[in-house]
Amino acid sequence: MDKNLLSNRVKTMGESATLTMAQMARDLKSRGVDIVDMTLGEPDFDTPCDIKNAAKKALDEGYTKYTPVPGLPMLRKAIVNKLKRDNNLDYNIDQIVVTNGAKQAIANACLALLNPGDEVILLTPYWVSYDSIVKIAEGVPVLVSAGIDQDFKIKPQQLEAAITDKTKMVMFSSPVNPTGSVYSHEELEGLAKVLKNYPGIYILSDEIYEYINFGSGHASIASFDYIKDRVIVINGMSKGFAMTGWRIGYMAADADVAKSCVKVQSQFTSGANSLGQVASAYALDHGVYKEMIDIFNERRKVFIKLLKEVPGFKVNEPTGAFYLFPDISYYFGKSNGKITINNSVEFSDYMIREAHVASVPGTPFGAQECIRLSYATSMENIIEATKRIKEFVKGFE
Ligand code: PMP
Ligand code: GLU
Repeated sequence: MDKNLLSNRVKTMGESATLTMAQMARDLKSRGVDIVDMTLGEPDFDTPCDIKNAAKKALDEGYTKYTPVPGLPMLRKAIVNKLKRDNNLDYNIDQIVVTNGAKQAIANACLALLNPGDEVILLTPYWVSYDSIVKIAEGVPVLVSAGIDQDFKIKPQQLEAAITDKTKMVMFSSPVNPTGSVYSHEELEGLAKVLKNYPGIYILSDEIYEYINFGSGHASIASFDYIKDRVIVINGMSKGFAMTGWRIGYMAADADVAKSCVKVQSQFTSGANSLGQVASAYALDHGVYKEMIDIFNERRKVFIKLLKEVPGFKVNEPTGAFYLFPDISYYFGKSNGKITINNSVEFSDYMIREAHVASVPGTPFGAQECIRLSYATSMENIIEATKRIKEFVKGFE
């Protein structure tokens, strides 16, 4: 087809870099290449059996029809209870919207709140899709960055300096994808105190990695009463419950914002899938599956130790999610006689081709000096990947 006929929206949009790199790894594997895949942020565990059984039972009980757009009342109630139990946050059922994955909750919020030209501050490194979703909603992403020297976390003064009269939203995740960093209650309070003075700014707080936390517990920026009505809490079943394919996410927000998001969703996709919702209500009532988190933690410790042995790598020591985000900029400008590495995209590209280790470059996360390595994979793969990475960089020293 004539590519000019495509919309400007789609012409300027990139594909999700995480999904693209994951697909490249799969393609190479299917051609027989022995790839160690560290691309995707997806638990390698199967969904726990009791959650699957809840879905099987729901099928037999006839949960096969359209669901209400904001979600089945049983799930919305389970979410209200979860937010009280785990986060000490009070919400009513009309403030909860169940979505087709957390991704849709973010898209709903942007489409419901942003006008063309509204600025959205992304605490950077940020998750790849934030930038694209904001642009689809005709907003303007504004990046505020922190490097490995500040554990990739933004300080209140940096946030304040980025605010203009066009700022409509601040967007971030904690635990953070791609760095694994976790904002503490005190660090969030610093940001909240800045935002208290700007009543026209919404805060999208993506807490999808809440349960994958190996530190001193999860904190939500919604716990500061003076900004709570402007916070949109995003969460979902994909990560903590190993339910990526079920496509269930949710948001908790001011009732009017929630209602507007329901309006958007009613025109795009309708209510989320019925069986997934019943299974999610069961899972949320059950609470965290600690066995999975303990396994991630074991892998994290080993991976940090091994990756620190790679010459030239600056390795962060995150306490959440399942990613390491080493700064590999030491290798920029270095050559192995055949090729010269100039940025993280090239590093990642050469590494998959030469060492058969698949990673995601930092550039689409707003941090071109880093690469993302997911340890949601076996210990065996973690050990093998590090061995190969060490061999790979040898040529460039
Ligand atoms: N937010 C973050 C920070 C993520 O890493 C992901 C990755 N899946 C999502 C949202 C979207 O999750 P879901 O699978 O529920 O759409
Ligand atoms: N969020 C996951 C990741 O960052 C899944 C991929 C995606 O949804 O883009 O790898």
